[in-house]
Amino acid sequence: MNIQDLIRPNIKALKPYSSARDEFQGNTDAMVFLDANENPFENGVNRYPDPQQRTLKSILSEIKKVSVKNILLGNGSDEVLDLIFRAFCEPNQDNIIILPPTYGMYEVLANLNAVEIKKVNLNKDFQPRVETILNVANSNSKVLFLCSPNNPTGNSFSKESIENLLKKFNGLVVIDEAYIDFSNEKSWLQRLEEFPNLIVTQTLSKAYGMAGIRLGICYASHEIIRVLNNIKPPYNVNELTQQKAWEQLKQKEVTTYQIKSILEGRDNLISELKQINFVTKIYPSDANFVLVKVDDATKRYNQLIEKGIVTRNRTSQPGCENCLRFTVGTPDENKKLIKELKTLT
Ligand SMILES: *Cc1c(COP(=O)(O)O)cnc(C)c1O
Repeated sequence: MNIQDLIRPNIKALKPYSSARDEFQGNTDAMVFLDANENPFENGVNRYPDPQQRTLKSILSEIKKVSVKNILLGNGSDEVLDLIFRAFCEPNQDNIIILPPTYGMYEVLANLNAVEIKKVNLNKDFQPRVETILNVANSNSKVLFLCSPNNPTGNSFSKESIENLLKKFNGLVVIDEAYIDFSNEKSWLQRLEEFPNLIVTQTLSKAYGMAGIRLGICYASHEIIRVLNNIKPPYNVNELTQQKAWEQLKQKEVTTYQIKSILEGRDNLISELKQINFVTKIYPSDANFVLVKVDDATKRYNQLIEKGIVTRNRTSQPGCENCLRFTVGTPDENKKLIKELKTLT
């Protein structure tokens, strides 16, 4: 597959904006910067941030064992996903494939970019129907979105299905690994070199505890990263985000401990949920949430709100009739959820 053939013609022809910080990249020690019309008085954020986020990328590169040239950072995964649409999907011509029930942003971004959506629902075990997906794809199918572990179902897709799709789908395959740090499954990151059409997205919003700073990460071949880099807003990751992310990533033990605690919480929550009489099914989870089938999702959702607990009602999603999604909270929050569930009639 030739990645160049997948890029939109206007993007291929684009001359990227060149910022002051892009044009001078020499040794910055003792330099006087009179190039970017900044206010010169130091307050910690008076200068533009590094457009290439080099310090942050170098620590991510170390943690994830991926070369810096294979990393692109964005203002949340949502920006990263939007850049993929803008680089590869010609409005009113190309299409993408999504596998409902799944993360809602793919559909919103497709609509925003006037890109047709082809939907192939997951099977009853919430696994991709590989043959159907390949049959539905046509020469304008540019991107296939695989969310694994999947939101809202919580399961990971089988390695065989993903591998088959990577080999046989004639477009880009985005594997959204927002929940990978909660999973026992291996990330697809280490296989970037094997599959030139693979894009892996991750985020600091979930396991890393930094939803508030908005940092999304895209890992792909250098060829793909170069295209996305050319079209991203020059200073898309602000200075405070870069600093906070760097500080937090340095404290690896904190994240490791929190993930362990959330996973223990999830196991406890699952065993407690089994005792609730109106819970009819608990789906296996590889993430920090559990999808649960109940007798009447909307009724139970409203009852929980009354008790001061907000959950997610997923009943309108394909295959999720009467399902609620519970995020795993702190041990106390989980206890409160169980305590209140036990009082509901
Ligand atoms: C939460 C979530 C994200 C995170 O998006 P950010 O914009 O990075 O906060 C991405 N993908 C999925 C499937 C999610 O559930």
